[in-house]
Amino acid sequence: MPAMRRTLWRRLGLAVAALLLVLVVVVAVGLSAVSVPDTSRFDADLGAIRALAVSTGAPLPVELRSQRVGRASGVPHALVVAGDGFGSDTFEFYAYQLVYADGRTVLVDVGSDAQTQQAQFPGSEFDAAAYARIQEALRRADATVVTHEHFDHCAGIAHSAYLDEVAGKVHLTDEQLNGPDALDAGFTAELRARFTPLKYERMHLLRPGVVLIKAPGHTPGTQLVYVRLADGRELLLVGDVAWHQDNIRLPRMHPRLTNWLGGEDAQAMAHQLRWLHDLQRTAPELHQVVAHDGARMQDHQRRGLILDGLR
Ligand SMILES: [Zn+2]
Ligand SMILES: [Zn+2]
Repeated sequence: MPAMRRTLWRRLGLAVAALLLVLVVVVAVGLSAVSVPDTSRFDADLGAIRALAVSTGAPLPVELRSQRVGRASGVPHALVVAGDGFGSDTFEFYAYQLVYADGRTVLVDVGSDAQTQQAQFPGSEFDAAAYARIQEALRRADATVVTHEHFDHCAGIAHSAYLDEVAGKVHLTDEQLNGPDALDAGFTAELRARFTPLKYERMHLLRPGVVLIKAPGHTPGTQLVYVRLADGRELLLVGDVAWHQDNIRLPRMHPRLTNWLGGEDAQAMAHQLRWLHDLQRTAPELHQVVAHDGARMQDHQRRGLILDGLR
């Protein structure tokens, strides 16, 4: 009997060791990132984007403004930039507004309503006054688009008290309306039917100086927003293709665990990061704006590239 008991214990020990080994391997692989390739297959043509932006000859926007609506702290840095330490990051949530000389405006991303943000990031900070300002800007906007269909970029549309008034001026793409994440942002089937989907192939001139560029990967409906201002300055709102400037600078993606949890196309994102990284060298005059990097936003504001608060 003692020999049998010893065998049982040995087997149990081996099983536990095997399980631990599997766990260690899963965590190690999960915290590593899909590598960013040396050359990009994301073939957006900056020359063509620039040409399209000014193709109508109509006046370009005179300013780009941003409004912070919320902030979530304690996001593990290891989930934001793979292999870059175990501190924590603060995610900031913004809406953007382009203003033309004649007073017309275009909104890009509107943030989330309080309830949706608290459900997704319990205990996060929400600025109700900023949300009210964004909602008023949404009512006044000539056109509204979003970088992608995640709640922190578009739940403020789905949950807007002014939906009837604004739905006809909100241009969500087919992919955004039908993506698997749209429902979390509040876009039920009934709600989706109230929007006319925006359909385009690779890029689309939304308004003079504002070009949308398809970049599926983070979500199926992700698009970059290129902006050319009247004074010649250029910005590229990259949404969540990068969460932190270091994703582009290094370039290094967030880890596979984040890809798995978010249902991302990591290969597509890796090629987009290479394209953005190379652009920093070949077109340093094009200022890239990542969605949630508060320190980088302050830098843009200090330099007067983005003005604080909406009109
Ligand atoms: Zn996102
Ligand atoms: Zn986001």
